[in-house]
Amino acid sequence: MTQNRERNEADALRQALYAAYVIGRSWTERGKVADYIPELKKAHRDDFGICLMKKDGTVLSYGDVDTRFSMQSISKTVTLAAALDKFGFVKTFSHVKMEPSGDSFNSIIKLDTASNLPYNPMINAGAIQVVSLLANELTFEELLAMTRAFCMDDGITLNRAVYESEAQTGDRNRAIAYLLKSKGVLQADPEKTLDLYFRMCSLNVTARSLAGLGLILANDGRNPFTGRRLMDPRYIRTINSIMFTCGMYDGSGEFGVKVGVPAKSGVGGGITCGVKGRMGIGVYGPALDERGNSIAGIAALESLSAQLHLSVFDYAEELFG
Ligand code: GLN
Repeated sequence: MTQNRERNEADALRQALYAAYVIGRSWTERGKVADYIPELKKAHRDDFGICLMKKDGTVLSYGDVDTRFSMQSISKTVTLAAALDKFGFVKTFSHVKMEPSGDSFNSIIKLDTASNLPYNPMINAGAIQVVSLLANELTFEELLAMTRAFCMDDGITLNRAVYESEAQTGDRNRAIAYLLKSKGVLQADPEKTLDLYFRMCSLNVTARSLAGLGLILANDGRNPFTGRRLMDPRYIRTINSIMFTCGMYDGSGEFGVKVGVPAKSGVGGGITCGVKGRMGIGVYGPALDERGNSIAGIAALESLSAQLHLSVFDYAEELFG
């Protein structure tokens, strides 16, 4: 009887994921691959994959879930986690605010006019500021090890071509770092900070690794398969809250209404989501909308959320654990 129920649930979950995958794939042609980092132009616009991971070990996936691509801004969750772990809540947020900016991810406007401190750690200015806190304390290798642990993926390595491409063309991020320096708030040398920031953006992940990251965030910072605690659950709560309000940049409000789970996107086409206590979801779809979020990824997540009642504000009873 119980076995039958489990089988029915697994089948229903697989069907829901497949329906979301089909919807996502139908959106890819409406998006555009990022081109402001030249190396990212090489991605295939039609690629799309989605992976769902539960703490009982269930892993379901469709499409391009083992294709490696650079995590880009999704690394902002890891650098925030590293800062909270190293410096605690009070010190970290004395260097960066926790408010949605409503501006595009690489905007410089509010930083110069409205505030000396960047609005939040999920936009470029805020992440560069957080990385400046880390740059004199942690090595790239230590942050790479942390990323591997959070994604439960030892195959993550630096994508050197993407790193070099961004280091050569990242003048807007350079402008942000020097503006922060001119205001006296940057905590390390700008070039050292930018090098670490570009390296973190260039880590090669898969949709599967992003499902792993989402699962750790959904599971209060504990690896469900080894039992290892990676982070104080209070900090995971902070990270999830900031992902919810700021993780999809100036699309965070709409995503919050339509999908309703903490998520973080990157211009490489990835999105990671953690559905509290239930599952991690990772997507890869390099065709982006005008805000720099995976267009197919958002469409698929909206469908999955509606089918499985994933929103943190959902009134319906949970259908699947
Ligand atoms: N490396 C990218 C940049 O700094 C990250 C931006 C993103 O993923 N939205 O522009």
